[in-house]
Amino acid sequence: MSPVASYRCPACGASVAADRLLWRCACGSHLNLAPGPGLARGDIVAADASLWRYRAALALQGPPPVSLGEGWTPLVERRWAGAAVLFKLESQMPTGSFKDRGTAVMLNHLIEVGVGPIHEDSSGNAGSSIATYAAAAGLPCRIYVPASAPRGKIVQIAAAGAEVCAIPGTRQAVTEAALAAVETSFYASHNWQPFFIEGTKTLAYELWEQLGFAVPDNILVPTGYGSNILGLERGFDELEGRGEITRRPRLFAVQAENCAALAAAWAAGAAGYVPFIPGGTIADGIATVKPVRTVEVLAALRRSGGGVVAVPEAAIAPALKALGRLGLFVEPTAATVAAALSILLRDGTLPPGETTVAVLTGHGLKATDKIAELLGV
Ligand SMILES: [Zn+2]
Repeated sequence: MSPVASYRCPACGASVAADRLLWRCACGSHLNLAPGPGLARGDIVAADASLWRYRAALALQGPPPVSLGEGWTPLVERRWAGAAVLFKLESQMPTGSFKDRGTAVMLNHLIEVGVGPIHEDSSGNAGSSIATYAAAAGLPCRIYVPASAPRGKIVQIAAAGAEVCAIPGTRQAVTEAALAAVETSFYASHNWQPFFIEGTKTLAYELWEQLGFAVPDNILVPTGYGSNILGLERGFDELEGRGEITRRPRLFAVQAENCAALAAAWAAGAAGYVPFIPGGTIADGIATVKPVRTVEVLAALRRSGGGVVAVPEAAIAPALKALGRLGLFVEPTAATVAAALSILLRDGTLPPGETTVAVLTGHGLKATDKIAELLGV
């Protein structure tokens, strides 16, 4: 049994024990988890080939009742634009996207505090992840998705037995529909509930262990709401706190230029959200108009010495095609990270001798209809 974790509200300063069902503060703000104790390398359960090898660092009260073997994904080296790059294959999770890290930890926490029926809104991957884990846990589940979401993701949600609510319009309209349903079931939102980030932090632990208990120089992540950036920061914070690491990687958030909330704020030198005009992009998984934790994500990027890279729409399909020729079949959202690699290697931001990790967040089988169009198949 770990001590009960606590939530902190960044807006009103409230501190609340994480022993009850909550997705936000009573004041309306999102909540964050207080810093965790982390672990030392000797605490790793090396025989467990999943993220639960780091269970000592997770803010849960007992062993997870629900797991599909998520985590411990491959880290493979490929040449890209003349440099050696390590690709982290988060696409090889149980539901084909990185979301399973966050979902598995969040749902196990929610089960510990007595959750019943749940709902969620998603561009697709988080929805299919939550629908799948809800099925594994026997929880009734309803997922709000954009009507334009890739068919593969919607089919995946339906196959898990969840109710699919397709909403026309923007990604924000989908969120509004889910918010309007908070009286009917628990809003298990991966963008609001902080235990999702408690799960994504295991990416930091995994990279550290897979690199021989060392950190890379740079990590690039396709970024919409920023749960991987915040998870990486939380994981490296904990490892630094335990004295397991003494330096930090630079974190780069990769966005699609056509819909780049973080890039707009970054370019303005702002500490928080800056209004911008969102357009359409094939990188549907990161087409986020208003990230919940914009302030935290920007601060994490600045603190790491990294930044935001906005990828032109025309660069995404060639990157996806080139990845495929390396044996890495990913969805368009994940391909943005390779387009960003080209930009940062070319302009010298990433010196070729440094260790650079590119996170491939979602599998190509998620979006075969869109990929067929892009490749003219
Ligand atoms: Zn508050």
